[in-house]
Amino acid sequence: MGKALIIGAGGVASVCIHKCCQNSDVFEEICIASRTKSKCDALKAKLDGGKTKISTAQVNADNVDELIALIKNFKPDVVINLALPYQDLTIMDACLATKVNYVDTANYEPLDTAKFEYKWQWAYCERFEKAGITALLGSGFDPGVTGVFSAYAMKHEFDEINYIDILDCNAGDHGYPFATNFNPEINIREVSAKGSYIEDGKWIETEPMEIKRVYNFPEIGEKDMYLLHHEELESLALNIRGIKRIRFFMTFGQSYLTHLKCLENVGMTSIEPIDFEGHKIVPLQFLKAVLPDPASLGPRTKGKTNIGCIFIGKKDGKDKTYYLYNVCDHEECYKEVGSQAVSYTTGVPAMIGAAMLLTGKWNKPGVHNIEEFDPDPFMDDLNKFGLPWKESYNPDLVE
Ligand code: NDP
Repeated sequence: MGKALIIGAGGVASVCIHKCCQNSDVFEEICIASRTKSKCDALKAKLDGGKTKISTAQVNADNVDELIALIKNFKPDVVINLALPYQDLTIMDACLATKVNYVDTANYEPLDTAKFEYKWQWAYCERFEKAGITALLGSGFDPGVTGVFSAYAMKHEFDEINYIDILDCNAGDHGYPFATNFNPEINIREVSAKGSYIEDGKWIETEPMEIKRVYNFPEIGEKDMYLLHHEELESLALNIRGIKRIRFFMTFGQSYLTHLKCLENVGMTSIEPIDFEGHKIVPLQFLKAVLPDPASLGPRTKGKTNIGCIFIGKKDGKDKTYYLYNVCDHEECYKEVGSQAVSYTTGVPAMIGAAMLLTGKWNKPGVHNIEEFDPDPFMDDLNKFGLPWKESYNPDLVE
């Protein structure tokens, strides 16, 4: 049915590519392109021979001309951006120049400030609309499935949703004292930033990890979780009817937090370049180089993830609560696609989002967040491609 250009060949891309090959009626042909071509070739070698035709290419996604040349050569129907958030705008520029649809899983971040906001990407809306192409923003799990869950709750369960708590629990154990489950630089920037949530239309800022709660996660049990800033709060507060407050919590173990505090205290999480033996180095980038590669955690990680949303609102004038979540098992993911659950829960929705555009089930020229589309076909595909969802009408609530 279509051709997809996948940019990036890391943990998330690897899962997405496996899933494209499982959905070969839709993904007839894919090209895997990244900075390090050998990683693309290794993925091709693993997956070649099925119905989906695979090619590879080298590309520096910071360079718009290189991207345009690659797109003109491969002629994809959609570009799936699974490189880093720093490349979002250059890839969007190349999609605009060639009139090709765009999908990503994380919003743009300038390299020199850890700031997650949609304003840079939303600024492309009119140009995408005029070009007749769609940019689907945030098609991972969170953002991504959390937005689809919100749109589904809005469509089927509520007249208005007043409170959303997004809960992201990773109860996986990889056996290392400290490692991150996805790109360490992006992960540490996210968790060492100030927390924030939206209440009555205003952002309320907190110190990093200031707000802690304990939650009893279905199929996992009690875990400590902390309020973080997260990008989907910004779009959901605009797109879901009746929002009074929306918060995001993520679980962290004590060992992770103690290591992070120590690394912060000695300056290793800083993104300010320093002089080191005649070179400029960014401490956080150096730290990334010495930490375990997230892709190497797959074979060692045991346990489950549980990510979902608790909604409180009104239906037919009555108060109502509703919890939608997915539980994913690290070892089962590894058995199926050779990656742990954090990459899996992001790579599957990236494939599904692209499939929605390729099949024409979602078609809305402009730049749109995922909750702006009809959630039903996406929810069906979550069940079909390895991320079945569960629901509860009387969940524990977060204080
Ligand atoms: P990895 O670091 O494992 O992979 C990133 C890939 O992008 C690597 O192959 C890297 O190439 C490539 N890349 C980096 N810079 C460039 C460039 N300039 N040009 C071309 N390729 C480049 O990251 P992950 O797979 O863990 O994460 C991928 C994305 O998914 C990130 O944006 C992350 O924020 C997002 N994410 C979203 C989640 C969600 O739920 N929404 C959850 C987890 C992640 P090289 O191998 O040469 O370094």
